[in-house]
Amino acid sequence: MVTVIRAKRRSKVLTSSGIACLSVLPTINLTAGCLHDCNYCYIRGYRNYPGESRIILYEDTLERLQYELRPGQPKPRAVYFSPSSDLFQPAREVLELSHSVLAFLLGQGIGVAFLTKGNIPTETLHLLSAHAGLVQAQVGLITLDEKISQAFEPHAATPEARLSQIEALISGGVRTAVRMDPILPALTDDRQALDEYFAALEKSSVTRLAAGVLFLRPGILYYLKKNVSDEMLAPLLAAYREEDQAVMRGAVYPIQNLSEERRREIFARLHDAAEGVGIRLDICACKNSDIASGSCNIAGTWPSPRSGVAQPLLDQ
Ligand code: SF4
Repeated sequence: MVTVIRAKRRSKVLTSSGIACLSVLPTINLTAGCLHDCNYCYIRGYRNYPGESRIILYEDTLERLQYELRPGQPKPRAVYFSPSSDLFQPAREVLELSHSVLAFLLGQGIGVAFLTKGNIPTETLHLLSAHAGLVQAQVGLITLDEKISQAFEPHAATPEARLSQIEALISGGVRTAVRMDPILPALTDDRQALDEYFAALEKSSVTRLAAGVLFLRPGILYYLKKNVSDEMLAPLLAAYREEDQAVMRGAVYPIQNLSEERRREIFARLHDAAEGVGIRLDICACKNSDIASGSCNIAGTWPSPRSGVAQPLLDQ
């Protein structure tokens, strides 16, 4: 059972993110909480997390955004959705608001970048395709295994549906990358699973993938233990050691990371599998500043506001 609590915003719609990769664009969350209920999701540790299968929907987002971007006000090159939620959650109210906000921004010539694990409604897919030059999509896909997906991201779109959606976005002209984040050590990182995963991406015409390994915080660990069976969880948690603490670039609170050695091993396997099918791999450097540099390109590449010279959103 899903609970949608409607509320008015108490702060601006367009906000900046403290995460380094997202700091290049203003960001928007349409909800607090997310109905996909991914058990590894970092928002479960937030103070304003409303609980499982509950969201607060900021129902006045469109009107507030229209006011913030009223004539005479500077317009951003592009906007990023949604650092702490998802545009395409399984609730009619969210999907309607997402569509109307996207239509407004695209109608203003403002680009949109988003990351989703949800089902994008057909009408919104058409809207995105009609403005393909202004859109950069990332689809989160951590595995092709239905059982693992169901255990860790119970209300997100199925892996099969996400693959179909990737194909629909690409064939609609939308620059689309895939995000394998989080990789679940011992569950989704063996070579055979990776080879099958990359073969499916190649078949779907994907050319670019960003990846990151699961990190833990007390809030995440609590929900993993509550919701995921011991059979799946035990090998996963065995891979983490207490002493591997790190702080994400631009963030404040520490995370429990997989050891550097294990991350290097996983990314080497990933790199080999990606190279085998000609897919470019970007490692999330926010969580791996010890072994990676640069950006995972989560917010895309947009024209410089000063030069006005258009750059490709993604190197596809
Ligand atoms: S879709 Fe994203 S924001 Fe929503 S629960 Fe999953 S990881 Fe969190």
